[in-house]
Amino acid sequence: MTLRGTLIGCGFFAENHLHAWRDLDGVDLVAVCDLDTGAARRAAEEFGVPRIYADAEDMLRSERPDFVDIVTTLPAHRSLVELAARHGVAAICQKPFAASMEDAVAMVQACRAAGVRLMVHENFRWQTPLLAVREVIDSGRIGTPFFGRISFRHDWDIYENQPYLAKDSRLAIMDVGIHILDVARFYFGEVKRITCTTQRVNPRVAGEDVATMLLDHVNGTSSVVDCSFYTHLNPNPFPQTLVEVDGSAGSLRLTEGYRMSVTAGGRTVTNDVDAPLRAWAVRPWHVVQDSVFNIQRHWVDRLARGGEPATSGEDNLRTLQLVFAAYESAETGRTVDVAVVPAA
Ligand code: NAD
Repeated sequence: MTLRGTLIGCGFFAENHLHAWRDLDGVDLVAVCDLDTGAARRAAEEFGVPRIYADAEDMLRSERPDFVDIVTTLPAHRSLVELAARHGVAAICQKPFAASMEDAVAMVQACRAAGVRLMVHENFRWQTPLLAVREVIDSGRIGTPFFGRISFRHDWDIYENQPYLAKDSRLAIMDVGIHILDVARFYFGEVKRITCTTQRVNPRVAGEDVATMLLDHVNGTSSVVDCSFYTHLNPNPFPQTLVEVDGSAGSLRLTEGYRMSVTAGGRTVTNDVDAPLRAWAVRPWHVVQDSVFNIQRHWVDRLARGGEPATSGEDNLRTLQLVFAAYESAETGRTVDVAVVPAA
């Protein structure tokens, strides 16, 4: 069975979604939508999508698709997810899913009440090198993890393609902290407490561009999750996420150039865990582009075979809770208890 997909928001990042949809078996993108019809037309022409719309509701009503992929920026997420729920259409929503816990819970509830699947496009945990780390943790080779660090530091000009970021009052945690907090949950499970400091180093941006977070996980692991958009390194590691895990029987380091070293039993083995370079991918973005393909393949698989997506709306509530708790900690100077996940 071929799924009939639609997409809303034909801007900067949608190009990656569109490439992935075109590559995936079992999906036909039947329409794209953008308030800017020029953007919708360009996307439709480049990717051979038959119909374009300027209004999302028109599109869902006319097309009655199997799913809609929402690739707009944050301000439109709640209204578009609720629109999909009203039309009984399964939805994917880009991160950051919502601007508040209240919005996020309402969006999850709307989809649940309508009986439609909802996945947040939380793609970092689908990166090939980050999946390789998880495999080592699961294998037990390094024993039980007691310390982790997930780090994303660079000074790449992210504002060139995403000018809205420079104006956002909540920047680093909302944009990339959200991804690496999700990766910390993926590796070490849920979090009891979080302590965070933020800094604004680049005078050209409105929000924090540096964040340092300490997480106490329920299972006893401590992890440090840190990001910086103003760290001058040569070569520039963007967009690599670096990982350290210390376990009771060994350790793991994912270092620059996608080299993963695992030390266990007195031996260190180093492997190249770089992502494949898809035909449409461009370095250094290829690791992110490949993860877009991976998460969208997961979505197609879940729609076809059933089951909740790994990064369902419900799951993402726990990542978002860490985001808002991190801001609260930075603002109050206190450690924030995050043990209670709001009921959706
Ligand atoms: P963008 O501003 O370039 O594109 C958004 C598009 O959505 C615009 O063309 C706009 O006209 C359209 N749009 C907005 N509201 C609409 C509505 N109600 N109906 C129809 N069209 C609408 O933004 P972008 O940089 O492509 O970012 C989109 C999302 O992707 C953001 O949430 C961003 O955080 C996320 N993103 C994710 C990653 C990742 O790795 N997961 C990377 C970059 C961006």
